[in-house]
Amino acid sequence: RTVYVNGEYLPEHEAKISIFDRAFLMADGVYEVTSVLDGKLIDFAGHAKRLERSLSELDMRSPVTTDELLEIHRELVRQNGIEEGLVYLQITRGAPGDRDFVFPDPETTEPTIVLFTQNKPGLADSPAAKKGMKIISIEDQRWGRRDIKTTQLLYPSMGKMMAKKAGADDAWMVEDGFVTEGTSNNAYIIKGNTIITRALSNDILHGITRAAVLRFAAEAQMKVEERNYSIDEAKEADEAFITSASAFVMPVVEIDGVALGDGTPGARAARLREIYLEESRKAAI
Ligand code: PMP
Repeated sequence: RTVYVNGEYLPEHEAKISIFDRAFLMADGVYEVTSVLDGKLIDFAGHAKRLERSLSELDMRSPVTTDELLEIHRELVRQNGIEEGLVYLQITRGAPGDRDFVFPDPETTEPTIVLFTQNKPGLADSPAAKKGMKIISIEDQRWGRRDIKTTQLLYPSMGKMMAKKAGADDAWMVEDGFVTEGTSNNAYIIKGNTIITRALSNDILHGITRAAVLRFAAEAQMKVEERNYSIDEAKEADEAFITSASAFVMPVVEIDGVALGDGTPGARAARLREIYLEESRKAAI
C-alpha cells in the first residue's frame, strides 16, 4: 500500500515519523475518515471543513491547502486502486526536539500529516446492515470537547471492548441520563415518523454523515427532532440506528439485551441507508 507522509508518497514500510511527535506522546492530533464508493470520495468538502474547524479549535494549522488535500486523497485512491474503502487522514502538532507540555513554536515545528487508504470491498452492500447491530450502554467518560475530532480514542476503544465482551457490536455512551453518541458514530432513535437525535454541542462529534442524513430525512418523508433522549426511551423506540462515514446508516436491533420491534432492522432505517448511499454516490467527487 502506498501512504502519504509529509509531502511524500511512500510504500507503507518506508513511512516514518518521529518518536517526539506530539500525537504519539500526547494524542495532540486531529483526524478525518472519508469513505470511497465507486472510486470516488463521499462528502470530501464536509470532512475538509470539519478538519479546518478541529485544527483552529486547537490552534493548529494545516500544512496543505484543501485543494492539495483533495489531490492527495485522489492520488492515494488511484495508486491503491480503491473502489470501496476509506481514506484516513491525520494532522498533528508535529515533533519538537523534546517532550514538553507547552505547545512548540509553530515557526520552528512543522505539523505532521499522514494519509493512508483502507480497502473495504462490500462496504456499501454490508451484511452487518442486513443483520443490524446490538448495542450496550456505558457511561460516557470522555473529555468535554468531543466536537473536536482528536486522536484521543482510548475510551471509545475501551467502550468497543466492553461491547465485544458483552456479546454486542458497539456501545452507546450515556451522560447525565442521556445518550451522547456511539463509540465511533452518532446515535438515533425513530418513533413513528420522527428521527430523534441529540442536538449539536461540544458533547458530541458533529458527524458529516449525520448532517447528510438529517438533510435527506424529508426525502424519506420523515421529521427530525434534535433533543436529548434516555437509554430507556431508546429501548422503547420503534427503531434505532447509527451513522458514520465508514458505516453510513446502520440499523440497531437491540439495546442492553432489549430487542427493538421484532429484533430485525427497521424499514425506515433501511430506507434512510438506501437514500444516503444513492445521494452520496451521485454527489461523490
Ligand atoms: N461520533 C464519533 C465519536 C465518531 O468517532 C464518529 C466517526 N468518526 C462519528 C460520530 C461520526 O462522524 P462522521 O459521520 O463524520 O464519520
